[in-house]
Parts: sequence; C-alpha cells; structure tokens
Amino acid sequence: MKIVRTAVAVRTAVRAARARGERIGFVPTMGFLHEGHLSLARRARGENGLVVASIFVNPLQFGPAEDFDGYPQAPRRDHALLIREGVDLCYEPRADAVYAEDFSTLIVVNDLDEPLCGRFRSGHFIGVATVVAKLLHAVEPDRLYLGAKDWQQSRVITRMIRDLELPVALVVCPTVREPDGLAMSSRNTYLTAQERAWAPNIHRALSAIAAEVRAGRLTRPGEVATAVRRCLRGGLGRVQYAEILDAESLRPVDLLRGRLVLATACFVGKARLIDNVVFTVPSRAARGTRKAGAPGALSKAGTTGGSVKVGAKRAPRQADSARSTTWRPR
Ligand code: AMP
Repeated sequence: MKIVRTAVAVRTAVRAARARGERIGFVPTMGFLHEGHLSLARRARGENGLVVASIFVNPLQFGPAEDFDGYPQAPRRDHALLIREGVDLCYEPRADAVYAEDFSTLIVVNDLDEPLCGRFRSGHFIGVATVVAKLLHAVEPDRLYLGAKDWQQSRVITRMIRDLELPVALVVCPTVREPDGLAMSSRNTYLTAQERAWAPNIHRALSAIAAEVRAGRLTRPGEVATAVRRCLRGGLGRVQYAEILDAESLRPVDLLRGRLVLATACFVGKARLIDNVVFTVPSRAARGTRKAGAPGALSKAGTTGGSVKVGAKRAPRQADSARSTTWRPR
C-alpha cells in the first residue's frame, strides 16, 4: 500500500490506474479504524480495480468544545489493517496542506444540516461537506463508500453530490455492530468498562421503539422521541436528542409511514455516541385490512434504572406478526 500526502500525488496515482481501465473506490476515514471502516474497504475492494482510503482528522468538522485534540489515532495499526484489506493507496494529508491559513471556501448543504446532530454541532456538516468535496476532488473516485451509522452525513453527502453534479456514485454500507449491538465507533475507546457495558442499551432502545412503530403501537413522532428518552433514562447515558424523521429528506413527518430514520445522540461518560435505525412502515393499504394496535401502549419507566416494558398492551391479533419487544436496560 502506497501512502501519499498530497492531492497531486493521489490524483496522479489514480489517473494512472484509470488510464489502465480501472474503477476507483474511495473510503474516507478519520482513522483509528475498526470493523465498520474495514467493511467499507472490503466492499470497495470487491467492486473496484483501485481502492483508495484516506485518514484525516478534519479540524473543520469539530466544534471548539469537541474532541479534536484528543481524537484517538493509531496510524501504524491503521496501515496494517488497510493492507490486510487490500487497499492500494492511503491518502493522509497534513491539515495545513488541506486548509491554507486563509482558507475561506465552504460548502453548505442547507436543510439537511438542521435536524439531529446539526442542532447541536453548529457548522459540523459544513466541515464534513467541505472536506468530502475536497477529498473527492483529489481522489476523483467512481464510487464513494460511507457508513449508514452516520446517517445524516450520508444524506448530506448524497445531496451535495446531486446538487453539484459530482461524477461519483455513493454507496452507503450497513452499520457494523459489536456482538452486543453497540455500533462500532472510534469513540467507543473513550468508554470505561462500566459505560461500555451500558452502551448497547442505545441500540436496544432504538430497535425496540422501531418495532413498536412498525407494529403500529406508537403512532406519533413525539411519542417516539419520548419513548427513546424514557428507555434510556436512569442509566449511564444522557440523551442529547432522539428524533424520528423521513429517512431521505430528514424532514419531520406527521404520519409514521414510509421509510423512516430513528436516530439518537447520547453522551456516555466522555463519549458522544450516535446511532440510528432505518426502517419502513407500510401504508395502511399495503398492510391490508389488519388494523394497527392501540397507540400509546408504552408503559411508564420504572423508578429504578429506567426499566421499561415496551409493548405491554399488545393487541392479541398482532401476536403472529409482531416481535416480542419486552426490553430492559441492563
Ligand atoms: P469516521 O472515521 O468516523 O469519520 O468514519 C469513516 C466512515 O466509516 C464513515 O463513512 C462512517 O459512516 C463509517 N463508519 C463508522 N463507523 C461505522 C460502523 N460502525 N459501521 C459502518 N460504517 C461505519
């Protein structure tokens, strides 16, 4: 694997490969790689003649009070992992080569940057869109690989690619999870043993609440957000937001129908963890004549540890199709 530090060097290598008739796959990362990143590299390896990864902790997407300075890094280990996945080229620019001192050109993807993380990380998606545009410009890939774990990011980049008519196909790959369901993240390294043991509750809560929505037992967006908070209350996490939105436009929905994303950000100790589930609720017509269960079937959280029973009042006629969703934070 060749490591290159400048846009000119990466572009030269990529153009040589393209001249040989190869397709280029690109996996941008901030390093401290885990199986989530590697799944993208593997997918890219299977679909392209040349695979380029980048490792760049992008200062522009971190707020002043965020973890830019302490962001974990392990370049040697990252290189070994990328080599193992058959990555051909690793682009690792220095920050001052990416951003001149008087750098002043930014990409703003309006609307999509407003909900979810956008409400709490001012300027974050400007930083993301700007750096991805610059990386795409350097690498000129045919295919760009991103993870569904950062769902809002994938939507912002989809819109940017469309609006700027960038000649690249975006491939959004599924979230890779630890065996207990915790979404893999470089930031999981911040967790203490106790916090790590609690953290899978985030995904358990999202999955349980999504099942309630799919089964028609939660029918209002506000109820859904409250249910996520209630599920996670009293544990080691502090929910920053929980929202259910149209999965593509990230707009609020009145009716919980169609393709939806249920997303949350949760502080667990020093770590701010994000996770989401994307799922489809068929329209009533598509569901046939079967009626949805009674809304508001979510029982109140217990007083100790935020214990929650989801779906306690499940309508008997739904028993065949609805999964059991009794759920408790551990
Ligand atoms: P990051 O290094 O956090 O900027 O992530 C680089 C890319 O890896 C982004 O497209 C992420 O969405 C993706 N990614 C991060 N974690 C996961 C995961 N657990 N599963 C799948 N993709 C992921």
